[in-house]
Amino acid sequence: MSHLTVVIPSYNEEENIESTARAIGEVLGEANIEYDLLFVSDGSKDGTFARVVELSKKDDRIKGLQFSRNFGKEAAIFAGLSKSKGDCVAVIDCDLQHPPATLVQMYRLWEDGYEVIEGIKSSRGKESPIHKLFVSIFYGIMSSLMKIDMNSTSDFKLLDRKAVNALLSLNESNTFFRALSFWVGFKSASVEYDVQERTKGKSKWSFSGLVKYAISNTTSFTTAPLKIIAVVGFIMVIFSIVLGVETLVNYFLHIAVEGFTTVILLLLMIGGCIMVSLGIIGHYLGRIYEEVKGRPRFIIRDETDNL
Ligand code: UDP
Ligand code: MG
Repeated sequence: MSHLTVVIPSYNEEENIESTARAIGEVLGEANIEYDLLFVSDGSKDGTFARVVELSKKDDRIKGLQFSRNFGKEAAIFAGLSKSKGDCVAVIDCDLQHPPATLVQMYRLWEDGYEVIEGIKSSRGKESPIHKLFVSIFYGIMSSLMKIDMNSTSDFKLLDRKAVNALLSLNESNTFFRALSFWVGFKSASVEYDVQERTKGKSKWSFSGLVKYAISNTTSFTTAPLKIIAVVGFIMVIFSIVLGVETLVNYFLHIAVEGFTTVILLLLMIGGCIMVSLGIIGHYLGRIYEEVKGRPRFIIRDETDNL
């Protein structure tokens, strides 16, 4: 019989572990799906991993590992994928915002031969207006740069073993799971779900965290900002030719004394453009530096005995 591994990234989720394990277990049990749950504790500072160890002693299908520190959700997802044994692997949040019942729908599609099943948010649930605005700007930019509609995608997915292996074979350390699952291709389907309210605890995202996430994901997925620099540079060149001609004409007509405003404005504009461009190039250089070092994406401190 086929086997499903459910990867659950969890960071300081001690109050959610038990209820999540129970909720997912019940749904999958009712649907007669053979499964194991793999909690990836992303360097949690509370009792998250201790709870998982406790549960794993009672139920062999519950497994877990603990990172040596917080490496981020992407790292947790990839650690889960690399440790998963199932014929198919699902990734779901620990806070039950992704309804477990949707897992069954995804699994049925997998049985029908689909290899990548995306969870699509039919509503974004209760999020603050600032968060919503920011998310929609970020995904708007991402979608147009990557030519993939990202607005309603999430990390809630079910992947066939083939797709999992394809993802694991990518040896980049700055991954963006949500988009890479499109990138690897395969026969894909999607399932809509309603985002639920977080059961307990708070969202782990701060605004600055989201900004960093947005920048890091955009630059890990596309070089478009570098191309935009070239375009801006090109526009500046045309602009400077026009102004250059004007300046020369004024010079020969002997009316060239005025124009300090133009000079100052030009200096500011060019200076600003150069700084921003250098910043963008520097950012990519930093990314290359990180990738070249080839450090592991995560370090595992502890594992449950049954993993
Ligand atoms: N998470 C993680 N590492 C982190 C932050 C979050 O593994 O550094 C996990 C978290 O435990 C949860 C999931 O990622 O299972 C989604 O996080 P959260 O609910 O805080 O994000 P939101 O739902 O608000 O986007
Ligand atoms: Mg959440």
